[in-house]
Amino acid sequence: MEHELRAEYVDGAEPEDGEVKTWHVVREEEATGMCGRELSPEAALRSVDDWGNAGMPICHSCGALYLRESP
Ligand SMILES: [Zn+2]
Repeated sequence: MEHELRAEYVDGAEPEDGEVKTWHVVREEEATGMCGRELSPEAALRSVDDWGNAGMPICHSCGALYLRESP
């Protein structure tokens, strides 16, 4: 299964100019994080290969669930 990282923005921010608060893991290109968090379908996507990059805060719940699902 393909996973991607989708951005959650700081409160009230729009995807175009938003400052990213947390990256959630989504399955394929869904707009709902694995933790159940609803995200904007306009929010930025990044590859899970970017996991662990400095300056990319990852949702802890998504992280735990993702690690359980990945081989
Ligand atoms: Zn999450």
